[in-house]
Amino acid sequence: MPVLVMKFGGTSVATLDRIRRAAKRVGVEVAKGYDVIVIVSAMSGETNKLVGYVNETSPLYDAREYDAVVSSGENVTAGLMALTLQEMDVPARSWQGWQVPLITTSAHSAARIEEIPTDNINAKFAEGMRVAVVAGFQGISPEGRITTLGRGGSDTSAVAFAAAFGAERCDIYTDVDGVYTTDPRIASKARKLDKIAFEEMLELASLGAKVLQTRSVELAMRYNVKLRVLSSFEEQSDDAGTLVCAEEEIMESNVVSGIAYSRDEAKMTLVSVADRPGIAAAIFGPLSDAGVNVDMIIQNIAEEGRTDMTFSCPTDQVTRAEKALQDAKTRGEINYHDLIADTDVAKISAVGIGMRSQSGVAAKMFKTLSDEGVNIKVIATSEIKISVLVDRKYLELAVQALHDAFELEKAA
Ligand code: ADP
Ligand code: ASP
Ligand code: MG
Repeated sequence: MPVLVMKFGGTSVATLDRIRRAAKRVGVEVAKGYDVIVIVSAMSGETNKLVGYVNETSPLYDAREYDAVVSSGENVTAGLMALTLQEMDVPARSWQGWQVPLITTSAHSAARIEEIPTDNINAKFAEGMRVAVVAGFQGISPEGRITTLGRGGSDTSAVAFAAAFGAERCDIYTDVDGVYTTDPRIASKARKLDKIAFEEMLELASLGAKVLQTRSVELAMRYNVKLRVLSSFEEQSDDAGTLVCAEEEIMESNVVSGIAYSRDEAKMTLVSVADRPGIAAAIFGPLSDAGVNVDMIIQNIAEEGRTDMTFSCPTDQVTRAEKALQDAKTRGEINYHDLIADTDVAKISAVGIGMRSQSGVAAKMFKTLSDEGVNIKVIATSEIKISVLVDRKYLELAVQALHDAFELEKAA
């Protein structure tokens, strides 16, 4: 029988009632003749609560135990979803990551999926089970420890299962009815897109649009998974939501197709480091070893052999970054006068494939922000995106102003 993957995010399984509603959607697909793999997230708020427990217990925690704790939210919803389906007379059972087994790397809290053997689940499908409910976000390392795939990782579980089982489609059910030109919770004029290209979705996701985890888009692109985002709260037709697809499948698109933001950025400046060959490696090597995800980097003009180095990273990695740099200083690998952390910044990005062939997008973006009195602290560009760091208090204002300036409320 053809296989369908259906993923339900935290708000879609937040209560027993919502689990029942989701199970009904699954029942509809089973009735159509699909064997279904359901991937569930933890009930909304659960993972945050568990992360909070870990941080309170041990701020520089052992990542293996972090994973043991934060993966547990999904176990609850997987079991409850299987029970709900059974109550509806749909043959179903739950699987935790290790039972599949979904094998990952040992990079705890940010593990990558290595392999998903299909034989265990397929054997059950062959015996008449119609729904395999799998706990998303989690797997098992070669060392036999529980791993997690990073926040939002259930999306990646879903796409990986779709690829492994050759699913006809991977449907991501969430609390919005598709991918929008920007977060509809911030800009009321945001417009739902019928289709979005993999490359654009990849950029939007990696720049903060959390509707899909970045890695899930990467996998869908690589394995050509038909990926759809849709609402679990509305009745759905077969062409509901947003299809994430190859660029060629989209006829017309705006130069800028979306605005993404990331609220939890920090800007760190090393004041007065030596301007010598190898200084960047001496700074960013230890940061990378400490697991700090450095994003934007700027090095100022040197004066008398000294310069300032500024970089951005997620706010929750500031403590790690400070420690790594302090340790490098103690070891004599780098020297700096001061380390300033500005944790009140946000990153705003404009994304669009059209930027490859059209110039002037950056100029328009800077002019728009300047007209609103928003000061730009750091700029970074690539072929299809422009990102700026601004004071967090301007986040909503900047997103809305850019959405207006690029006329994203109108279709191309
Ligand atoms: P789930 O719990 O279902 O995985 P998430 O909270 O992870 O849901 O992702 C859905 C949220 O992503 C939406 O509620 C919305 O606020 C946010 N979001 C950010 N950018 C976008 C966008 N461009 N389009 C749609 N939603 C977006
Ligand atoms: N529950 C996990 C999280 O909140 C994974 C997910 O929902 O995708 O990050
Ligand atoms: Mg999510």
